[in-house]
Amino acid sequence: MNQMRAMPLTAHHPAETHPLTLSERNIPHPTRGELLLRVILCGVCHTDLHTLEGDIHPPKLPVVPGHQVVGVVEEMGEPLPGGTGVPHYERLKVGDRVGVPWLYSACGTCEFCLRGLENLCPNAKFTGFHVDGGYADYMIADARYALPLPDAISDEQAAPLLCAGIVGYRSLKLADIQPGERVGLAGFGASAHLCLQVLNHWGCDAFVFTRSAGHRAHARELGAVWAGAVEDNGDAGETPGVALDRIVVFAPVGALVPVMLEKLRPGGTLALNAIHMSPIPEFPYHLLWGERTVRSVANATRQDGVEFLKLAAEIPIRATTTVYPLERANEALLDMKHSRINGEAVLMM
Ligand SMILES: [Zn+2]
Ligand SMILES: [Zn+2]
Repeated sequence: MNQMRAMPLTAHHPAETHPLTLSERNIPHPTRGELLLRVILCGVCHTDLHTLEGDIHPPKLPVVPGHQVVGVVEEMGEPLPGGTGVPHYERLKVGDRVGVPWLYSACGTCEFCLRGLENLCPNAKFTGFHVDGGYADYMIADARYALPLPDAISDEQAAPLLCAGIVGYRSLKLADIQPGERVGLAGFGASAHLCLQVLNHWGCDAFVFTRSAGHRAHARELGAVWAGAVEDNGDAGETPGVALDRIVVFAPVGALVPVMLEKLRPGGTLALNAIHMSPIPEFPYHLLWGERTVRSVANATRQDGVEFLKLAAEIPIRATTTVYPLERANEALLDMKHSRINGEAVLMM
């Protein structure tokens, strides 16, 4: 038994054509500092969709997507020499449950890594992009970047936390959110529904903007103080009638930037949580005037992962999930693309 199932991407195509194909391949072997994981579950992320459809290009194909992996350590490669600087690394053992996020590894020596910005490392590798990810029965992980999962969080609950949660959390941090503030969330998929629960925990009022009526209802259920319609064509949409302190845009839609800037108070922050975004249309300077800040959020650090998983267990965050078997990964991606599910799609091996 050295064969496993995987759903690799061999060529970029629209999700409608079901570009992932079920295939058999050899179970890989871990080398020094690596782990062989038996994958239990893998979350489905918008970044996987962007990879599938060629909005972003992995260095080579085929590649197995999937970067929200909950797995069990099946085998460990030769240990790394001491002084890795990763406290949990020394304690890892066969049988442990770990999570593999988008950041597969970083170089640790460049100016960004040394500043604690390994998310910006030019030599960073991303899971399911530079290396094969979790749409498979087994995968290799870099032991230093695999995240220990708090026992209080179940497998199914953990998967969405690993990207939607961690990168969403970084967006909240980079948006400079202070307790009690009014925070807008534009787009209400996997990431925003987890962020909303962090905002509730921080005593913030959440205002949700999304074109999906189902997502607006989901937001209200989870405690949003207001949920209104916004279209991705640049129309102003509904407005809550109060200026917002901070806004995070989750939808990969540049037309939302000027629309959301109009809803932001002077001195407020607009953070863009998107690895890919359609062009931002030209807009008058007065929308930015008043010391408003617009910034992007790129990936996340290992430290973001450690902090967020601890917070998620404390709150505790409840992820809404829809589970699909591995071989239905194409359908899961399509349902996410068309906002047909609430929360996150998760593949079960
Ligand atoms: Zn680096
Ligand atoms: Zn992701």
